[in-house]
Amino acid sequence: MKGEEIDVFFPIASIYRLIREMNAGKVSKSAANELDIILEEIGTEIAKRATELAKHASRITVKAEDMRLAFEQWRCRHQVERQNQIPRNNCPSCGTLGDRMYVDFEANQHFPDAFKSLTVVRWFNDCHDLRRCFTCGTYYDCDWVDDNEIFSPTHTGEYKRIPVDDAERMLRTDDAEKRKRKQQIRRKVHELYGAILKTLPEDEMRIINYFINKLNNYVEPAEIEKDLALTKETVENALAHLMQVRVVMQIESSPCMKYALRDY
Ligand SMILES: [Zn+2]
Repeated sequence: MKGEEIDVFFPIASIYRLIREMNAGKVSKSAANELDIILEEIGTEIAKRATELAKHASRITVKAEDMRLAFEQWRCRHQVERQNQIPRNNCPSCGTLGDRMYVDFEANQHFPDAFKSLTVVRWFNDCHDLRRCFTCGTYYDCDWVDDNEIFSPTHTGEYKRIPVDDAERMLRTDDAEKRKRKQQIRRKVHELYGAILKTLPEDEMRIINYFINKLNNYVEPAEIEKDLALTKETVENALAHLMQVRVVMQIESSPCMKYALRDY
């Protein structure tokens, strides 16, 4: 499909690889092109600054140190801009939310409608997530309690606006924890099933890696099909075989069966 590609700055295969390394399931061509454009914009800005720095030092050769300094300056300026921007209170989407709110849903209290305009950036666990207003970029740290008690149920929610840096730190910490957890699972799986793994076809190994990347949360076959771009039949056969060799187990859950690694 070479003829279709628009003028690209970086080899498009490298861009795809860069995105895939973030564990993306599939990457659309327009996403790769968009990242290419962004990288070109940032790269041009940094290269321009590095050239200025070299000139400033009366050199005709632009050195690695000029590039590094130009990047540091770019990053620094960018961070200052972001810190000054957020949190804003006059946003047309989330401006009415205020800095913080606590509600008791059992007492028929509700969040303002504007809360619905926020997008979930990440669930850290069942009772804690991070949301963001994509109009102004403000992050909201949300906590939930839902204990399902029959006689005195507790069902509450709380959100608070947090600075971008705090939100990004939370995301980075979560990434690091997940990475660590993945490594632990991977190590354990290889310890337990090392000999069997060597005999498995590629699709089955991809499915095992998929379970590891999902931190062995239960998954439906349909999700595996979609994320790994495999046919229904391939996934069914692979799962049946992985169950037969006792690497994977089935969990009954409505409305369909889910799967996970047996031990890890
Ligand atoms: Zn907003």
